[in-house]
Amino acid sequence: MRFSAHGYSAVFVMLLVCFGFNVSKVQAFQMDRINGDNRYETAVKISQHDWSNGADAVVLTRGDEFPDALAGAPFAYSKNGPLLLTDKDHLTPITKREISRLHPSKIYIVGGPGAVSKSIQSELNSSYDATVKRIAGSNRYVTAARIADHMSSDRAFVVNGSRFPDAMTAAPYAARHGSPILLTKENHLPLTTRGALKAIQSTFIVGGSGVVSHSIVTQLPNPTRFSGDTRFKTSADVAERLPMGDPDHAFVVTGSEFADGIAGAVSAAKSNDQILLVEENYVPNAIKIAIHRRGLKSFTVFGGYNAVDQYVDTELSLPIQLLLVNKHRGIPSDYKADHLVKPNVRFPFSADIPKRYMSSMAAGHLEEMFDDAWDQGVELYAVSGYRSYNRQKEIHERITRNQGAAYADRVSAEPGHSEHQTGLAMDVSSPAVNYQLVESFANTEEGRWVKYHASDYGFIIRYPEGREDDTGYKYEPWHLRYVGKTIAQYMDRTHKILEGYLR
Ligand SMILES: [Zn+2]
Repeated sequence: MRFSAHGYSAVFVMLLVCFGFNVSKVQAFQMDRINGDNRYETAVKISQHDWSNGADAVVLTRGDEFPDALAGAPFAYSKNGPLLLTDKDHLTPITKREISRLHPSKIYIVGGPGAVSKSIQSELNSSYDATVKRIAGSNRYVTAARIADHMSSDRAFVVNGSRFPDAMTAAPYAARHGSPILLTKENHLPLTTRGALKAIQSTFIVGGSGVVSHSIVTQLPNPTRFSGDTRFKTSADVAERLPMGDPDHAFVVTGSEFADGIAGAVSAAKSNDQILLVEENYVPNAIKIAIHRRGLKSFTVFGGYNAVDQYVDTELSLPIQLLLVNKHRGIPSDYKADHLVKPNVRFPFSADIPKRYMSSMAAGHLEEMFDDAWDQGVELYAVSGYRSYNRQKEIHERITRNQGAAYADRVSAEPGHSEHQTGLAMDVSSPAVNYQLVESFANTEEGRWVKYHASDYGFIIRYPEGREDDTGYKYEPWHLRYVGKTIAQYMDRTHKILEGYLR
């Protein structure tokens, strides 16, 4: 991306990431931000960036509630103008100054007088040499349908009108392709939405059946649904199945606030970029996996550090290496670590089975560690690496059956919640404990060596002694997880666990 204008903070980071053991390649990771002191200013900053020489049209909507803004982004893009936000009763000063700078010939107010007051409309009329037009209905559904009247496309997006995240996720693609965003209730398709659909041949529904029910979908022309069971999974599904044109760059925005993302959606459409939703202080696994699958490596955050903090920056830089898999945060059942290879280390068995494999991201580092250990007479053996979702399911069910659910939850992960599914974990042992995965491994020469040296090769002991309350698992001196050398050494020095390092 080419953000070179002033008015927003930019941080550029170069990371050298080594993949595999024979191959190392240099990947440039780049990160910047567009943010103001508040949502009005952020929208202005976006406008200044994308319309530095002015704009013929401006779309204005209220900044404190989302319904009218939901459908506004594709409309603003179709008019090649920014989406600006205002207080509902008074034209926000910074917005007013920006409209002056843009010098538009048309100003569109999206929303009724209850959303953008009549006095603001009068003020616009008297302050600018521009036609002021209001597009509004009696409610959000009608407003969205009225906006759709101004757009000519045979495809429409349909989202739940009470939720902004799905609309925000849909907006860049919808805008770029000239498709309106129409709104529905979960179980009821409003009459005006139904009317607006008459001119539509096909629909993209964004959101799961919990927000747009199956019975609604059956009423839509040629429907295709994009969804997940959270806003983030839905965002990831759209990123993977409706990719934008830019192969490297995406915008990132908080999934808990609408303002930055809705104004930013027009900008994203303009630069043909995805918008990805993240939590305030972490990147959900579904988004990390989508980033990895899409090969995205350059990001612009809409909003300041109070909206999306610096931990997010770190996680975006190493999405797979920093996957956080625990009892609360899982990975999809279809997620399979890519580039699984057999590390050239000793195993206590000879069969070529999945647990012999691990991600090429980690395998070379494991080999180095084992080579150095054996050079020092430390007889380290690898016992168990990659494990598929289904294999984890079998193991967890067997332990539950034999030893009860409470015990199973302390010692084994539910399917979709095992680090072994990432290909970044390897259980290790030694002949002194008969290659078993037992706590007494910690007291063997091998156990002590691993505890002392693993971080030098980028591995952490993921479930340390005395941290069961934080990790959710009892002490496992044998379970090594690859996070990369710098991070592993930092965590070792500061006695952090992964939950603490990532927040
Ligand atoms: Zn393990």
